[in-house]
Amino acid sequence: TVTVGVVAVQGDVSEHARAIERAGGGHGLETNVRELRTAGIVPDCDVLLLPGGESTTISRLVHREGIADEIREHAEAGKPILATCAGLILVSSDSGDDRVDTLDLLDVTVERNAFGRQRESFEAPLSVAGLDEQFPAVFIRAPAIEHVGDDVEVLATWDGRVVAVRQGPLVGTAFHPELTADSRIHDLAFFEDEAVRSLV
Ligand code: GLN
Repeated sequence: TVTVGVVAVQGDVSEHARAIERAGGGHGLETNVRELRTAGIVPDCDVLLLPGGESTTISRLVHREGIADEIREHAEAGKPILATCAGLILVSSDSGDDRVDTLDLLDVTVERNAFGRQRESFEAPLSVAGLDEQFPAVFIRAPAIEHVGDDVEVLATWDGRVVAVRQGPLVGTAFHPELTADSRIHDLAFFEDEAVRSLV
């Protein structure tokens, strides 16, 4: 069984849980999804998912609840993390907004709400490195990735801006892979990882 921790201090996590179960099932892996609202659970998790929401609120609560340090330890142990939208903002090195105390796990800077008011929410067919066919990416008041460090691989761009990256076991997307039935982002973040697949 793969134990998946989903940060759940703010926002709805049920779509994430369903998407993870579906993705794991596609690989014949059983998943145990744990919702993270308090400290003490992250150490039991094999992989972590940092979902979207409101990054200023999520940042405040993960620090207050002592989850932030546990996420850092998980990352230092080299275990996989998928960070989407506000989650991506949280793991970045700088969000350009003092209200977000970033975890600095991913060597990128981001710009919050980067796609403008008229395009607050949209779906785009995205070419993603490693995927044969385009991914239907749902963007909701999404951030864009600005500066990308040397160890960071760009996985996708949209409208000339970087929207998906990988740095070792950490995958960050500006869009919401849990909102479509397509599991390929979860696959590339979690279920194609040798160590994760051996957790049967
Ligand atoms: N705009 C949000 C923020 O900056 C992120 C939006 C999202 O996660 N869908 O926190």
